[in-house]
Amino acid sequence: MLMSQERKIHGMDKIDNHLGLSFEDVLIYPHHANFIPDDISLETRLTKKIKMSIPFVSAPMESVTEHKMAIAIAQRGGIGIIHSYMTKEEQVKQIKIVKRAESYIIRMPDLYTVTPDDTFGNLKTIMKEKNISGVPVVLHDNKLIGLMTMRDVEYLDYISTDEKTKIGEIVSTVLYPNSQDDKKLITSRDGISRDEAEKMLYRNKIEKLPVINEGDYLVAMITKRDMRKRKYFPFATRDEEGRLLVGAAINLDGLERLSHLVDAGLDVLCIDNADGDTDAVGYLVEEIKSLYEDRLPVIAGNVCTAEGAEFLLEKGADALRVGLGPGFGCVTRLVSGAGMPQITAVLDCAKVANRNKYDVPIISDGGIRESGDVAKAIAAGASSVMIGSIFAATDESPAQEEMVEGTKIKRYRGMGSPEALSKRAGVGRYVGPKGGRVYEGVESPVQYRGSMEKVLNELLGGVKSGMFYSGKKTVDHLRLYGKLKVITPASQREGHEPFGV
Ligand code: IMP
Repeated sequence: MLMSQERKIHGMDKIDNHLGLSFEDVLIYPHHANFIPDDISLETRLTKKIKMSIPFVSAPMESVTEHKMAIAIAQRGGIGIIHSYMTKEEQVKQIKIVKRAESYIIRMPDLYTVTPDDTFGNLKTIMKEKNISGVPVVLHDNKLIGLMTMRDVEYLDYISTDEKTKIGEIVSTVLYPNSQDDKKLITSRDGISRDEAEKMLYRNKIEKLPVINEGDYLVAMITKRDMRKRKYFPFATRDEEGRLLVGAAINLDGLERLSHLVDAGLDVLCIDNADGDTDAVGYLVEEIKSLYEDRLPVIAGNVCTAEGAEFLLEKGADALRVGLGPGFGCVTRLVSGAGMPQITAVLDCAKVANRNKYDVPIISDGGIRESGDVAKAIAAGASSVMIGSIFAATDESPAQEEMVEGTKIKRYRGMGSPEALSKRAGVGRYVGPKGGRVYEGVESPVQYRGSMEKVLNELLGGVKSGMFYSGKKTVDHLRLYGKLKVITPASQREGHEPFGV
């Protein structure tokens, strides 16, 4: 069916002869800087409301983002999007691991507890398996009566306590002491602020602070270990309870799993579909926005034209994922003949998304090979970049590691590759005609690059350098006022080829 605004096009009218520009076709336009490099801030927005300290998002790909990557990138100020080529249960588990990784307050029902009828052996198993050093003792209705810590366990082991001994007989730190030996358990009421909690922990020289409500029912626990982590990662992307933020992807058939992901603590949803300028993606965005309103920000995509961007913005997208075919493991442009050079895609989409009535951030997705590409994507109008292959090469990615001819590699694969799709029943990111599936991705080994910390530091250094040359102190300043210079193949050679080699 013809869309009403479509008209027949003939001859040269079929040709859009505005330049289609990619990363290598442009350079950041240098401009006077009235600040020093140390003044540069990389703060930006992921969605309309979510702020990040650095403009990096790890791609929802099965060789890139599971919990380890999501934790590493959120700790350093970006965010990871857990991929969807796994069961609902597994995706829920991945989200929970990230949400538990650093919260200074762990709430029921996520807290591990024991009852007075449990044995000393049970307690030791929980501590060992869950790697925790303090377990509240509660009655069956969660009424708090005491706390068992690693110190207690060490002492009880030292005096050769039988593993079958009941916790009720050995709990030493209790809420209501009834003998002179019983130590009083220090607790706080729900609603205590982070600063107050920190003071209580230090003032009382304790590691754990159980939080109770009226009637002494346990509602949460605050730990010193988690408070310390917060100091270690001051720029981490966190919610108001200090937990790291995490995103997850769903495909077109993902509505059924969504409520489970949200219950697990999902902070931002990414609709993972190669072609977002379709009725199917539009309906999904609309449906999710009507179900969750502002409680669940939605990254929608992928789009690469002004019209595609406007379509998803009108449906209520909170961020746009922009890119058609620039990815490293991607053969979409070869297979389908369709695509858009990435700088042009960002320029065109940003022009619409920046309108006052939308003011929606753009994530430039795919094609980042060098740190300079990140600065170029921002100068074209992106607020952040989504990365697959570079991050797949790090310790934190789930990509398989191998030695090939003495070099360590990791196996990065496109989500439309046969290897990735073998993990996915039903529709994935690529929706072809029934029975006529084509593969739009390949598996390509990438050279191992070390830890995320190291790789991010390299990227951040490069972006800051680009910002300094452009005379722009903030990501938004570069995004809104930065300029790009189109260059020729001769200039590309001038820029790349080391003299005399
Ligand atoms: P990279 O950073 O250049 O590796 O690009 C990562 C991006 O490539 C992802 O975020 C996706 O948008 C895209 N992508 C992932 N898998 C495929 C695929 O199989 N074919 C085409 N594009 C893909």
